[in-house]
Amino acid sequence: MKWGLFGGTFDPIHMGHLRCAVEVREIFDLDRIIFIPAAQQPLKTDKKVTPFHHREQMVKLAVEANPPFSVSDIENLRGGKSYSIDTVKHFLTASPEGLELYFIMGQDAFQDIHRWKEWEQLLLLCNFIVVTRPGYEVRKFSDILPEYAAAQFHFDTDAGAFTGPTGGAIYFKRLTFLEISSTDIRNRTKNGQSILYLVPDSVRHYISENALYKDL
Ligand code: NAP
Repeated sequence: MKWGLFGGTFDPIHMGHLRCAVEVREIFDLDRIIFIPAAQQPLKTDKKVTPFHHREQMVKLAVEANPPFSVSDIENLRGGKSYSIDTVKHFLTASPEGLELYFIMGQDAFQDIHRWKEWEQLLLLCNFIVVTRPGYEVRKFSDILPEYAAAQFHFDTDAGAFTGPTGGAIYFKRLTFLEISSTDIRNRTKNGQSILYLVPDSVRHYISENALYKDL
């Protein structure tokens, strides 16, 4: 069994996130992708974020027609800041034996990982899939991580990934990149512009019915 964990603020979820999840699932032959809306993204505590129940509901609407995709409310149930290490540990202990976990994230989030709680341990707990943006290429791991941490990982040509001392791998993948951002969607909504085709229709209707992003 191979599961992908896709954490995000998802304020709101959009076609870029969804297309990324579809391609990652195909490439890595994942059985499931679990979307995990953050209750309190630790690096966004100074930002105004839409209440969890709205963000969670939009993710549910976005994925409901695709059975391999599901949504977890674990970070809201746990309460407090949504540290990814706690989430990964939860899935490692609460899930079937032999399960392989792949944490999916964008390149910007990965480049900030050294600011995350217990990030060195997190990198050794599961596999990572880092979705890269056009024009970006990882030549040296030490460009991203502090030297002492980078030294633990070596590029394995067969795996096409950086592998570490516990066997977990960090894959960098270039996918079809849809240049869509949650910030842009919020701004368009606030300005009365259309967000047609940027988000699924169900999410667009939800935003309109609940008057989200009207007064940012
Ligand atoms: P977000 O803004 O909602 O984005 C979710 C993910 O989607 C990000 O990895 C982002 O990559 C990616 N993405 C955005 N636009 C995309 C597009 N057009 N196509 C493909 N992918 C796209 O979420 P976030 O606030 O960055 O949080 C990401 C995760 O990191 C969450 O699970 C959060 O809890 C976790 N986190 C943990 C800690 C910690 O444990 N201390 C600290 C910070 C964050 P980019 O980053 O490249 O935009």
